[in-house]
Amino acid sequence: MFTCPTCGSPDCVKPMAEILAESSSLYVPCSTCVADQPLDKMAPFRGLGITAGPDAGRCPACGRRHLDIVMAQVLDLLIDSGLKPGNAALKDVGTPLVALGVDLIDPPRLGKKDVVLVLDEIDRKTAEYVLAKVPEIKGVIRRHGGPGKSVGLPDTGEEPHLYDLLAGCDVRGDVLNSLVGDFCFYRRQSVMHVEYWRNNSVKIKVLEKMFLQGDLAGKTVVDGMASAGTLGLMAAAAGAEKVILNDAWLPAVESILLNIEANRELLGVGLERLRSLSGLPVIGGEPELIARASGSVELEVYHGDVRKLAGVVKSCDVCIIDPFPGMPSDDFVRHWQGITKDRVVTL
Ligand SMILES: [Zn+2]
Ligand SMILES: [Zn+2]
Repeated sequence: MFTCPTCGSPDCVKPMAEILAESSSLYVPCSTCVADQPLDKMAPFRGLGITAGPDAGRCPACGRRHLDIVMAQVLDLLIDSGLKPGNAALKDVGTPLVALGVDLIDPPRLGKKDVVLVLDEIDRKTAEYVLAKVPEIKGVIRRHGGPGKSVGLPDTGEEPHLYDLLAGCDVRGDVLNSLVGDFCFYRRQSVMHVEYWRNNSVKIKVLEKMFLQGDLAGKTVVDGMASAGTLGLMAAAAGAEKVILNDAWLPAVESILLNIEANRELLGVGLERLRSLSGLPVIGGEPELIARASGSVELEVYHGDVRKLAGVVKSCDVCIIDPFPGMPSDDFVRHWQGITKDRVVTL
């Protein structure tokens, strides 16, 4: 059991072993759930004749509701509060992110606190109202800059792009079933970009191919811009001897630590935190060693500029450079080329 770093709840972050046990039934209709037809997303919602109360459409057996019904209740509240026009349609509400990203065949059936909402037009008071009235909502985030502008820190010299967490909690996990193992990667969605790692993602395939070719076994691997730690922790499970995970963005470092803990059974490690994150700058410069883990693999977690990390690490076998969306990798790669024995992998 872990305490959520954002809201303190014991239910936000679960160890992967626990998720695996329940993942096949997550968000899946029970045998009593009514086979709801999806609602019309394009038509003015108020013309659909939907009852939008907190218990409308709830299955009496499992207590869950169809995603569309939950979003309908949210839209009803937004229209009442004046934030959406009376003729708004369900497609206008915003983006629902399920608390645990798993591959789904049917639209999700949601239980308590199963969705983080990302909305463009929302204020704190209404966000708190939505959170209080709709049991399935776990957190409400206000988005800035449209869906094309990623959240987080592009580079150390730049301003981070942030969303606002207006109510509840924004920590959510994405489940990744890969050739090297099953993981769950947690992050705070108001400060780190939404990156649903579909199991056939190109980046995942690159790591799996390296694993199959034996390019990671026994190696020292650097994941220089690790974000939530996905690729570095995959390398760790793929037989690397040592993995160094680094990010300049403090929320990413927090995420990496959480993800080592959540996946520690697969990784076969125990985590040792060397210093608290409080008091550290949100944007790192000179790399600082934050934590290490040892067991089946040796892990080191740094907070700092990936260019400067090259001067600290001095040599490695494989270096993974996965820059922020839209950032060129050349300058980062230049610092690692001379000290990486096998290959610098840019993604
Ligand atoms: Zn939480
Ligand atoms: Zn049911």
